[in-house]
Amino acid sequence: MSTFDTLGLDAPLIQAIQDLGFTKPSEVQQKAIPILLGEETDLVALAQTGTGKTAAFGFPLIQKIDPTRKHTQGLILSPTRELCLQITNEIKLYAKYIPGLHTVAIYGGASITEQASQIKRGAQIVVATPGRMKDMINRGLINITQIDYCILDEADEMLNMGFYEDIQDILSNTPKEKRTWLFSATMPKEVSVIAKKFMNQPVEITVGSKNSGASTIVHEYYVAGSRDRYQALKRLADAHPEIFSVVFCRTKRDCQKVAENLIEDGYNAAALHGDLSQNQRDLVMSSFRKKQIQMLVATDVAARGIDVDDITHVINYQLPDEIETYTHRSGRTGRAGKEGVSMVIVTRSELRKISHIEKIIQQKFTLKNIPTGMEICEIQLFALANKIKNTEINHDVDEYLPKINEVLDGLTKEELIKKIVSVEFGRFYNYYNKTRDLNASEPSDRGDRAERSEGYSSNADSVRYFINVGSRDGFNWGTLKDFIRDTVGLGKDDVYKVDVKDSFSFFNSDTTAKDIILETFHEFKVDGRFINVEVSTEGPGNFKGKPKGKRDFDRPGFKKSKPSFDKGGYQGKGGFDKKKKFEFDPAKKSKRRQGFG
Ligand code: AMP
Repeated sequence: MSTFDTLGLDAPLIQAIQDLGFTKPSEVQQKAIPILLGEETDLVALAQTGTGKTAAFGFPLIQKIDPTRKHTQGLILSPTRELCLQITNEIKLYAKYIPGLHTVAIYGGASITEQASQIKRGAQIVVATPGRMKDMINRGLINITQIDYCILDEADEMLNMGFYEDIQDILSNTPKEKRTWLFSATMPKEVSVIAKKFMNQPVEITVGSKNSGASTIVHEYYVAGSRDRYQALKRLADAHPEIFSVVFCRTKRDCQKVAENLIEDGYNAAALHGDLSQNQRDLVMSSFRKKQIQMLVATDVAARGIDVDDITHVINYQLPDEIETYTHRSGRTGRAGKEGVSMVIVTRSELRKISHIEKIIQQKFTLKNIPTGMEICEIQLFALANKIKNTEINHDVDEYLPKINEVLDGLTKEELIKKIVSVEFGRFYNYYNKTRDLNASEPSDRGDRAERSEGYSSNADSVRYFINVGSRDGFNWGTLKDFIRDTVGLGKDDVYKVDVKDSFSFFNSDTTAKDIILETFHEFKVDGRFINVEVSTEGPGNFKGKPKGKRDFDRPGFKKSKPSFDKGGYQGKGGFDKKKKFEFDPAKKSKRRQGFG
């Protein structure tokens, strides 16, 4: 078995490693350290975050730096401020027994003058984000013309984030004979291009298999109806009472919405996305690190560089657009040799993406059932029993015991246990009792399986609306769907479950589109007639006449008995047929588009 002593590291590093409690080198360390210490070479290492890669390049770099000379000798480029600070901290810990060795972090969003003065005092190792580094070079605040080593960390992420040109500019300021060590979790074409263009016959090492995820991660998928994603997410969280997780959404908007819904539903959740200020993001990350937040709902960009070791679960609320991104997401768990679970909530139509990911990560996914309400109740019941068993007794309660005994007098031990457990358990039982199975059933012949397996009412993800036009106005489900979509400026699948009645209809949209739909149809007139949309509280089956609240029927300008739609109704994109009586108000349409985009 390989130990740190056999890798060729000097005593001050070994001492620091002992202080950190690292007992044995990780795979990437075993592979990279002897190569980097043994010869002057370029290196391409395929290794995920969490595998110990910082030490894999950090130990050799520190050992090769001459602390008696003040100029910058090693430059580490990293994609995000968070990762930059994390690397800097790690390097400082590793180099703590090496007097005179200074490491400085250079990143955006903080005082450039302060960073420049730290550099001026002498920094043999500089850890930088590409944008700020380029800025400092342009302003003549840093000199990297004499570096011996350049490390590109998370190269795939840097390229994903559009830093190619910055990297190219930065490297053009470094000496030709320096050594470049490139670390990347995946090997897309762009990274190979960098390796070819800027590196000299690099030695290649791979941890696990190429493009693969860390092997301590178990991958699971859950098949739900597209409108049940949120409910499925809650069940996954409730089935894991000790969950400490990152939940990935595709857009900032979804991320914010899911986090808000979770908070409203009583979870310790918070959103992390690019619309938050740096200060807000720092606060969220600090609460997450302290585990005050159990579910961090993040976009891919915002989650880059999350360096928290104990994340138990990564939940893919939606799969990423770029399948390669999955590796980065799942790599937030299973760090530092710990076990982690990466869960994916998918609809049937997304199932083929799972096989695609399996090929990329070269690991198999397990199909799991979304837990039923009663399964969750059982899990929570035992979690509660264990919590009671493991709770340390607070002796401050002793003085109240006589009075408490009086209150509870006459209860048997069994009754007492049942009552204590019921206090907490009741919450879950009341919520989950009689809830339906969320696992999406097999596709139906009609191909509209998602719609059929779901209820018609509103839920956290989907909103059901009433609209005061129907078949009497010449609409069928298809033309009404087109009319709503085109009027609001929505996408192909954004309006669904359209149910056309005689003089009114129902339809659904995702909750994210609710505001724009209601805003669009607020005071919305076609040829003097108000077209009114309201959130429905009734399903089509049990709708008994006019919904509650103020309706168009009551508004001036609407004559119920004389509908103004021609029988031909809506004629497709671009508005009503000019021959027909309704026309769009273009001013209104452009305002709406702005609001939604
Ligand atoms: P990294 O992949 O560099 O982000 O490292 C992930 C975590 O693993 C960090 O918290 C390191 O401190 C820790 N770590 C690095 N090397 C080892 C090791 N050999 N044994 C245990 N933990 C390690």
